[in-house]
Amino acid sequence: MQSQQSEIQRRVERFMKERILPQCAALHRQAQEATGEYRPALLDDLREQARAEGLWNLGLPELPEGAPGTRLSNLEFAPVAETLGWVHWAPEVFNCHAPDLPNMEMLQKLGTEAQKERWLKPMLEGKVASSFAMTEPDVASSDARNIACSITEDGDHFVITGRKWFVGNSNLRNWDYVVLIGVTDPDAPRTDQHSAVIVPTDAPGFEVVRQYNILGARRRWSPQAEVKLDRVRVPKTNLVGERGKGFAAAQVRLATARIHHCMRSIGAAEVALKLLIRRAETRNTFGKPVIERDKVREWIALSRIELNQARLLTLDSADQLDRLGDRGARRSISMIKYAVSESCFKVADRALQVFGGAGMMEDTPLADFLADMRAFRIYDGPSEIHLQTLARLEMQDRERDDTDWLGLLVDSR
Ligand SMILES: Cc1cc2nc3c(=O)[nH]c(=O)nc-3n(C[C@H](O)[C@H](O)[C@H](O)COP(=O)(O)OP(=O)(O)OC[C@H]3O[C@@H](n4cnc5c(N)ncnc54)[C@H](O)[C@@H]3O)c2cc1C
Repeated sequence: MQSQQSEIQRRVERFMKERILPQCAALHRQAQEATGEYRPALLDDLREQARAEGLWNLGLPELPEGAPGTRLSNLEFAPVAETLGWVHWAPEVFNCHAPDLPNMEMLQKLGTEAQKERWLKPMLEGKVASSFAMTEPDVASSDARNIACSITEDGDHFVITGRKWFVGNSNLRNWDYVVLIGVTDPDAPRTDQHSAVIVPTDAPGFEVVRQYNILGARRRWSPQAEVKLDRVRVPKTNLVGERGKGFAAAQVRLATARIHHCMRSIGAAEVALKLLIRRAETRNTFGKPVIERDKVREWIALSRIELNQARLLTLDSADQLDRLGDRGARRSISMIKYAVSESCFKVADRALQVFGGAGMMEDTPLADFLADMRAFRIYDGPSEIHLQTLARLEMQDRERDDTDWLGLLVDSR
C-alpha cells in the first residue's frame, strides 16, 4: 500500500506542478476582473483530466465496490491533501474538496442503500455539489446544542423551518442538496434532540437569502450563503443515521474534514514560507538583503519548527482515525484543530509582513492564505472550544489517576 501511496503522491505533485501552478496567476487575474458568477472552464477541464488519470476521490478509504477512487487510508491521503493545499481550488480538481468529501464520507458510513444510490453516487462521479448546514445566525453555534432549526413531523415527511449560514457551494449550477442539522426531539436530553437530514436545494421553501465572501477574499467560485427554510418538506427517509443522533452523524464528517483542512492548511503555509524566503532574498533595505535580517531568519526557523510539529501531529491524528475511529481520535483531532490553525496563521502572517505592502494586495496568494488561516481558527470549531475540550479530557485523565504525584514535592511545613 505504501508504494501505491508514493505513486499517487508523485503523480499528484506532478499534476500540481505542471498543470495547476502555471495557471494560477492568470486565473487569479480573471477572477479579479470577473463580474457576477464566475467559474473558469479550466477547472472542469482539469477535473476531466484528473478523473481520466485515476486521480479522483483520493480521500475516501472505504469506497463501495465499483466506485471510482484510490481508497487511500486517512494516513496515506494526508500528505496528498497537503500537496492539494498549495492552491485553494486544487482539491476540487481531484474531487477531494470540502464540504463534498466529508459529506461523502458521512453518507458512506451512515447512509441507507437508497440514500447512497440517490445522493452519494452522483457525488462520487463528481456530477453534483452539496453543503453542510449546521451554523445559524441567531444562536451561538460553537455550542452545537444551541442549534434551533426546527424539524417537525407530518405523516411520512419532516417539515423544516429555520435559517442557516456559512453554507458553501451555493453558487454552483449543480448544487444538489444540503445535509442539515436541526431539532427533531425538543423534549429529549440536550444531546439527543438533533438529527441530520438531507434537504434538496430545489425543495419549495428553500431560499438563498444572500451570498458573501470571507474577509473580503474574492473566491468568486465559492462564496458562502445564508439560507432560509420555510416549511420545507422532505421525506422521512432523508434522515441520515439515527434520529436524535445528529451530533454523532456530524462528528463522522467533522473528524475527516478537520484532518483534511489541517493538511491543506499546512500545504498553503508551506507555500507562504517559500514565498517569504524568495521575497526576502530579492529585497534590500539599509544596504543588505532582507533575508539577512536576524528577525526574518528567526521567523523562517520558527515557521519550519511550527509546520513540522503541525504535520507530525496531524499525521498522528490521521493514523488514530484509521485505527480508532472518530471517537478514539477525538482528543488528537481537537489538538490539531487548535495547533495547526494557530501555527499556519502565524506563518501566513509572517509571510505577508515580509512582503510589505505587496502582501496586502490581491496580487499574491498571501491575502487569501491569511483569510483562510484566520477563518480556520473559527470554522470547524473555534480555537477556544477545542482548548476547552482538551482541558476537560485532561481533567478526566486526572480523575482516573490515583498516583501520588504530590508526593514528589518537598514538604516544607
Ligand atoms: C470560512 C467558513 C466556513 C464555514 N463553513 C461552515 C459549513 O460548511 N457549515 C456550517 O454549518 N458552518 C460553517 N461555518 C461556521 C463555523 O463553523 C462557525 O462560525 C463556528 O462554529 C462558530 O460558531 P459561531 O459563528 O456561531 O460563533 P459563536 O458560537 O457565537 O462564538 C463566537 C466566539 O465566542 C467565543 N467562545 C464561544 N464559546 C466559548 C467558550 N466556551 N470559551 C471561550 N470562548 C468561547 C469564541 O471566541 C468564538 O469564536 C464556517 C465558517 C467560516 C468562517
